[in-house]
Amino acid sequence: MRILPWLHLAGSRQFGLSSPWDCHIYALRRPGGGILLIDAGSGLANHRIVANLKAEFGDPLPQGTILITHKHPDHAAGAGSLSRDLGGWPVHTSTLTAPILTAGQSEAPGYPPELVYAPCEVAEAFAPGATFDLQGFTIETIAVRGHSEDSIAFLIDGQDLFTADIVFYGGVLGLINAPGSDLAAYRQDLPKLAGRNVRGLFPSHGLFTIENGQHHIDTALAELQGGFVPRTIGQGDLIF
Ligand SMILES: [Zn+2]
Repeated sequence: MRILPWLHLAGSRQFGLSSPWDCHIYALRRPGGGILLIDAGSGLANHRIVANLKAEFGDPLPQGTILITHKHPDHAAGAGSLSRDLGGWPVHTSTLTAPILTAGQSEAPGYPPELVYAPCEVAEAFAPGATFDLQGFTIETIAVRGHSEDSIAFLIDGQDLFTADIVFYGGVLGLINAPGSDLAAYRQDLPKLAGRNVRGLFPSHGLFTIENGQHHIDTALAELQGGFVPRTIGQGDLIF
């Protein structure tokens, strides 16, 4: 599904593009370039993700790279199997997430039993905070704890921010009732996203926006300075 000339959705629960256990799986591509896939999903509907990519970019597909934001199964459990199903696309992730991907997980509480979080070979593990070029895009990695200890946001070409589950449309946080999710860590790390004049805001669930993304970040930052627990995903109608 095309969002912008350089940006597509290859999988998503909410848009009905792949498994109901998949986050948004973004596919970035410049004309003539390779494909940069942000997250891999659960592994429960790889065939649909591959079909979506071929519908967007042709068959055979250009070469690609899979970039994983954090360890949670809806983002990362399918990394190894999707890499294989795409003919061996390399998987890149941070040094925080790489050990979890490499080892796999025997259990994924809250997910269906058919989900297999198998070990996945990591071709490249970058240091949190590193900036590098991949598939024609410049990617600044910003480590923001709070949703999980290993969450990384990707700032693409200095203007569009892929926030994973760190912050959502409307300034909603990704604080969840799970080990590693931590409001104090949010207070410490979310200010790393302040003052960046973000254009597009592309979270891994729910709505995204192609302009004024910084407004949504600033809303979350303002709530974090108040005396009450900020709005977070899963509360009331803030369901992903
Ligand atoms: Zn998550």
